[in-house]
Amino acid sequence: QVVVVGSCMTDLVSLTTRLPKAGETVLGHKFFIGFGGKGANQCVQSARLGANTSLICKVGKDSFGNDYVENLKKNGISTGQNVIVIVPGANLLLNFEDLKRASDVICKAKVLVCQLEITPAVSLEALKMARASGVKTLFNPAPALADLDPQFYIYSDIFCCNETEAEILTGIPVGNLEDAEKVGRMLLERGCKLVIVTLGAEGCMMISVEEPIPKHVPAGKVRAVDTTGAGDSFVGALAFYLAYYPKLSMEEMIRKSNCIASVSVQASGTQSSYPYRKDLPQDLF
Ligand code: ADP
Repeated sequence: QVVVVGSCMTDLVSLTTRLPKAGETVLGHKFFIGFGGKGANQCVQSARLGANTSLICKVGKDSFGNDYVENLKKNGISTGQNVIVIVPGANLLLNFEDLKRASDVICKAKVLVCQLEITPAVSLEALKMARASGVKTLFNPAPALADLDPQFYIYSDIFCCNETEAEILTGIPVGNLEDAEKVGRMLLERGCKLVIVTLGAEGCMMISVEEPIPKHVPAGKVRAVDTTGAGDSFVGALAFYLAYYPKLSMEEMIRKSNCIASVSVQASGTQSSYPYRKDLPQDLF
């Protein structure tokens, strides 16, 4: 139901009291390996809410790649046949051929999700394939590109970015709700049907062709300990609601996705902080 075309990254994290200067060695007090990458993160959050998910990605034929595939399986994500290559930057090797091989999965999805941690032309092609089959497209332009191909706006049913990405795309720094309204309007004019700008603790600003007056959807007040990956938790949750609760209003989907992302900021790490359906208030479902 939810298909993500995107990246897998292995995070090697060490915690130190300060960053080393050039040439210096400092002692870290903690080291851990985490599973990240925007594509996989969004897919994992969707799966943990109960979505049937597939991730179309490329991983290296090394221990990181193997461990990553295990991680996806543990999260109940369908990886299908793996196309494996021996390079660290495997994400950038995902190509049109791979998409063609996965076209059945893409075209039968309810929602297709893409970001920019793979070759942008491949993301765009995936959006086009989905659109041609009537699959809803959710695009997260992250990490942002100042010279984003304008076709991305046209092929995104929902264009969801954070404040930094909005600034890179429009040149307008987003410091308050008024700025968010302004960038929302600008992005909508570029041809998407609906724009969501996520605003951290402030929740989101939404604007659509149907409702061209920007609407602020606030997030609940929580004690944030680590906001890494909050945006991916939000996008993954939104994909889940789009696929499984298509009758909800967009505002309601965003409100619920805010709730889920705000749970993720209360624990440390990226995927490790993403909540499971069984641990969430049942009125979210
Ligand atoms: P990113 O992780 O891409 O920078 P944001 O910081 O905009 O994205 O956060 C995405 C979503 O996560 C927000 O729209 C909100 O729902 C939730 N969120 C992030 N930070 C907080 C916070 N401090 N309190 C409550 N919710 C938060």
